[in-house]
Amino acid sequence: MTLYDFTKSYEMLEEAKQYVPNGIYGPRSPMFLTYGSYPCFLDRGEGCHIWDVDGNEYIDYMCSFGTNILGLCHPGVEEAAKAQMDRGNCFTLPSNLWVDTAKRLVGLNDGMDWTVFGKNGTDTTSFAITVARHHTQKRVVFTAHDEYHGSAFWITHSTNGIPEEYKAYVEHFTYNDLDELTALFEKHSGDVAAVMLTPYHHPAMADQEMPKEIFLKGVRSLCDKNGALLIMDDIRCNLRLHPNGSHAYFGVKVDMVTMGKAMANGHPIAAGLGTEAVKEAAQNVYFSGTHFFSAVPMAATLKTLDIIEEEGVIEQVAAQGKKLREGITGLAKTHGLKISYTGHDAMPFMRFVDDQYFEKNRQFCGEVAKRGVFLHPHHNWFLSAAHTDEDIQKTIDVVDECFKIVKDQS
Ligand code: PMP
Repeated sequence: MTLYDFTKSYEMLEEAKQYVPNGIYGPRSPMFLTYGSYPCFLDRGEGCHIWDVDGNEYIDYMCSFGTNILGLCHPGVEEAAKAQMDRGNCFTLPSNLWVDTAKRLVGLNDGMDWTVFGKNGTDTTSFAITVARHHTQKRVVFTAHDEYHGSAFWITHSTNGIPEEYKAYVEHFTYNDLDELTALFEKHSGDVAAVMLTPYHHPAMADQEMPKEIFLKGVRSLCDKNGALLIMDDIRCNLRLHPNGSHAYFGVKVDMVTMGKAMANGHPIAAGLGTEAVKEAAQNVYFSGTHFFSAVPMAATLKTLDIIEEEGVIEQVAAQGKKLREGITGLAKTHGLKISYTGHDAMPFMRFVDDQYFEKNRQFCGEVAKRGVFLHPHHNWFLSAAHTDEDIQKTIDVVDECFKIVKDQS
């Protein structure tokens, strides 16, 4: 097989550096992948297939970091989006889809009574802690170590340009460690506004971890005892685990939910939801953005949710993920490679166990990319309803070839 060439991608990256800091920033930078073994720019996509600017085709297991749950250019979603586009997108006031979309999200998410719309997950996680602080009249928020809740001042993992005070009142505990969380509640007794939790632990560059049942029950009870809110940050998992919110999947009652990513199959929209008890606080905090009210992503949301429900997408995605897991873990055994493969089948993470600095994983994923499969060496992957059996089989064949390369070189 001829390995892919990325000449145009890297030429474009050099040119981009003249006009954009680092050429590309954030997790889409080639520095987060295997430099030189992945493309930098994509030209088009359809379903779970993407084509880069050099004309190379890939089976995509990142789905734009989760958004493309039905695959790119889904005809039903795009038709709904285009129909709204023909009527207008950004209006001076909210569109006629405002109420329908709000009703739909409230009806969908277990225990939620109201919703607000933003563009990115960060809009809604920031909104949620603001509501929690106003509702409780307390300041401190707890989140798990290494969890990602967005790029805002209060939570970003970055420190450059961010005065320490901006992250004051945010403390971290080890996911699944109730003792640590209990100690934090004691340390900040009387001043805890909320615990923000992801449905399960999905940090970058580490195994994913399911919540222990006792952990979720314990967090809920600590919040209740201390008058703090439990906010479920469902931005990454939402609509891949359970149609009614990942809190329904794990059977825990929450006070607020944040969602984004998959809800409009790639159209820009995110949502924050809450219970009746916190609605008054939500009415009294400021939340706005020029594009928060745009209509096209709402049309896309309604259609995406219809399709997910009508076509049993959640089960379908998990079933394809199971086939991928069985294929990859089986091959690892055959090749005598020790891997860990963790998380829900719809968004798994794979690494080699004796690979502390992810060198093997970078090599492996780079070799895989050069053969037409887009995995990620540091971040969990995402399955979609567009991944066919043929895509999975082709992926497994490529993994087989690249496991052999890793094995031969170790
Ligand atoms: N929370 C979680 C759990 C996420 O995975 C992300 C995005 N990766 C965010 C919040 C932030 O969302 P966004 O990048 O859309 O601001």
